[in-house]
Amino acid sequence: MQEARHAVAWHEDAPNPSDHVVPLDAPLPASVDWIVIGGGFSGLSAARRAAERGARVLLLEKGALRDGASSRNGGMAHVGFGASTRSIIDRFGTDGAREWFDLSRAAVRRIADLAGRGEASLLTSTGIDAQWNGTGHVELTHAERGVPGLHAEAELRESLGLPVRLLDRGEVQRLTNSDSFAGGLAVTEGGGVQPARLQAAMAAATRAAGVEIREQTPATGIIPIAGGYEVRTPRGSIRTQHIFGGVNGYADRLFPALRRRAIPVGSYMIATEPLAPELLAQVSGNGEMRFDTRNFLSYWRPTPDGRIAFGGRTSFWPDSLPRIARTLAARMRQIHPQLASTKVTHAWGGRLSFAFDRLPRITRLDGVTHLSGCAGSGVALMTLLAEQTIDWELGGDPPLPARIGWPPVPVPYEGIPWFLPIAGIGFALEDWWNERR
Ligand SMILES: Cc1cc2nc3c(=O)[nH]c(=O)nc-3n(C[C@H](O)[C@H](O)[C@H](O)COP(=O)(O)OP(=O)(O)OC[C@H]3O[C@@H](n4cnc5c(N)ncnc54)[C@H](O)[C@@H]3O)c2cc1C
Repeated sequence: MQEARHAVAWHEDAPNPSDHVVPLDAPLPASVDWIVIGGGFSGLSAARRAAERGARVLLLEKGALRDGASSRNGGMAHVGFGASTRSIIDRFGTDGAREWFDLSRAAVRRIADLAGRGEASLLTSTGIDAQWNGTGHVELTHAERGVPGLHAEAELRESLGLPVRLLDRGEVQRLTNSDSFAGGLAVTEGGGVQPARLQAAMAAATRAAGVEIREQTPATGIIPIAGGYEVRTPRGSIRTQHIFGGVNGYADRLFPALRRRAIPVGSYMIATEPLAPELLAQVSGNGEMRFDTRNFLSYWRPTPDGRIAFGGRTSFWPDSLPRIARTLAARMRQIHPQLASTKVTHAWGGRLSFAFDRLPRITRLDGVTHLSGCAGSGVALMTLLAEQTIDWELGGDPPLPARIGWPPVPVPYEGIPWFLPIAGIGFALEDWWNERR
């Protein structure tokens, strides 16, 4: 098999968000109201909100805007969290859980508005189409033993007022044209975006709101001073009143307190060559987002330019991208033997982060208000939560993820998650056990 290129397929069909940054040689401002660290969905949304509320805002991105997870993900905007529905209900009760899911639904609606084609969309304000498709998603179980779990999950979600539809083996087979699944759960809310286009549109809108966006300018030091902070960068220091941290899975040594709480994890994707329209229609149903229920999950979808993008986690041990890409391609072809001779042209990875309980967090640590830990739900959640974070800092109510504490990971840990490979053995065993015959 020809090796896939190490390249992000989304990038090749999107304008570059770097078109909206200030040239490297322009001097930095001496002082601003807000410094936003990180140029992904969180940072861009926070910066835009603060600027729209009248603040002078400087956004610092360590590398290029496209280096983080925001232009590399599956583009799936779905209702839900990394934490299971059961665990959320057990912890917060039914009313509390409803509040969490209301937040998630509001976040999905926010993305649909921004990435759609209406008056309030980024397409209207920037001319960049983030290619929203509101096709919902389907969660699929490989094993007959997983079907009762899906039924239980459907009941829980219905008790929270979340519309879902159970699919039996025959319905799943007809939808997916695959024999791999014993059942599914269809959710009509939500859908997908082209993430690199969404990030480019956000960068354009953020710039238009008056934010100064700087690439290749890492924040390297944060010093408390009278009335605020001095933020150090290799290009100079800036005084500021407020700091927003949108570094998620890329928290570096500048953020030791965050690194004791947020657990970074790699996720990887491949994309096929564009498919012939008949083949694409055969394997992509109604264009819905799909993922399975394994711990080592797979997620996949058609792209607006006619490919299949397929992602997943293959292990928690360090591994090479070519090997991961081969594993993902094998999984994809096991689900869809129709793609046996389709070329896999792209492979890439990125990092996301999660809290121990897999719920998102907004928390103030060492002078920085961080938004982090959205796990695999950040496409929708990060944008709305970043806006809510700014509103909170400017005197509004604390967002839901700011109202739960965030203790450090309860084992000796400083940002290198040595325990993940061990947890991974447990996850792999559970997957095997759930699918044994
Ligand atoms: C392969 C993959 C697939 C995924 N699929 C989905 C999906 O389908 N749906 C979903 O909801 N979520 C998905 N996610 C998760 C989602 O992409 C993230 O939750 C979201 O993009 C995080 O956005 P962010 O802005 O917080 O962080 P990022 O986009 O990761 O940006 C963080 C930025 O901070 C910068 N930074 C770090 N330190 C500094 C510093 N000291 N100074 C300046 N800048 C700094 C980094 O360079 C980086 O650009 C996926 C993630 C990956 C990796």
